Amino acid sequence: MPSSKKRIETIAIHGSMNHDSASKSVVPAIEVSTNFVHSKEGHQEGELLYARHGNPNRIQLEKVLAELEGGVAAAAFSSGMAAIGVVFLALESGSHVILPEDVYHGTRKTMVEFGERWGLEYDFVDMRDLQLVQDHIRPNTKLIYVETPSNPLMHITDVEKVCYVAKEIGAKVCVDNTWPTPLNLNPIEYGADIVMHSTTKYLGGHSDILGGALIVAEEDQFFENVRKIQYGQGAVPSPQDSWLLTRSIRSFPYRMRAHNENGAKVADYLSTHPKVKELYYPGLKNHPGHDIARAQMRGFGGMISFLLDGNEKETLKVVASSKLIQRATSLGGVESLWEHRRSSEGTLSNSPENLIRISVGLEHPDDIISDIDQALAAIK
Ligand SMILES: *Cc1c(COP(=O)(O)O)cnc(C)c1O
Repeated sequence: MPSSKKRIETIAIHGSMNHDSASKSVVPAIEVSTNFVHSKEGHQEGELLYARHGNPNRIQLEKVLAELEGGVAAAAFSSGMAAIGVVFLALESGSHVILPEDVYHGTRKTMVEFGERWGLEYDFVDMRDLQLVQDHIRPNTKLIYVETPSNPLMHITDVEKVCYVAKEIGAKVCVDNTWPTPLNLNPIEYGADIVMHSTTKYLGGHSDILGGALIVAEEDQFFENVRKIQYGQGAVPSPQDSWLLTRSIRSFPYRMRAHNENGAKVADYLSTHPKVKELYYPGLKNHPGHDIARAQMRGFGGMISFLLDGNEKETLKVVASSKLIQRATSLGGVESLWEHRRSSEGTLSNSPENLIRISVGLEHPDDIISDIDQALAAIK
């Protein structure tokens, strides 16, 4: 008999269901009200008061997100960046933060443009080298921020080892788990305190919802600050978006498994192509972070970057030659996308001029591969 502990496919479906509505509907209704009626005794009671503080659809969303990551609570936001901003704002003024050198460019920009104004000190370090992380620790280091695989170079960080370093100095670890998703990695299992998601990506899965979330291992003072900022500043998802996201999440584990499969097939194809100079996919045995990735991840996702054997102009030409793969930024949708990453990142971009980033979708893998094949043939 299998154990009675619920598995991810079951959590994804039932974690957001709620059968106590008046109509007994199987699927929760979208509750659009901004306010909730007080008791007959004339005062407010229960958890619902005003929609900035809470709404039934958002509560259902937060519940399923917390369960998916093995956390105790979650706070949902109107975008991934809103969630990341709150992580920084919830720290004590004067805190020092260590971030990966090739962190998501929006995270880098937020820290560079606002960190000092928010009373934060920071260092960007290559987190593949744990010694470098250790060397940058200061007496006031309060947060180590991790992103693995990194974007777009796919550097792999050992989450457990970083958490170990952080625990020694009483700092928190926040892991941006947008790319691995809870199907492939649960950072809390390895000691992370906070898991961040841009739910815009794989959890939403259809390129039609903007959202973010923070899931925590413990409801402590830090999370109390997160809640206060969420309630007080109101960068919250609408009831409609919360509802749509819980709907997407119900099929997410199966979608993600197919992204893993298609990603591996596309990477395999690219690995022998003569126009591909370097290929970055952690599922490949010769990827420098493969062993760590294999130890901490259950699958490697659908994100692939590669350096073309060519200059910027040729790289743009290849991207321009796809017929099936859409040219667009972002990732995690059912449709395959690719982009010349440097153009999307703009100023402050560290991405090589010949780098193409692919989000492998859920079309038949042979159709994706044949489109890449004809696009690569556009340069001689
Ligand atoms: C997209 C993304 C973000 C930002 O999320 P938004 O929903 O666009 O605000 C943060 N981290 C990673 C890894 C992302 O891919």
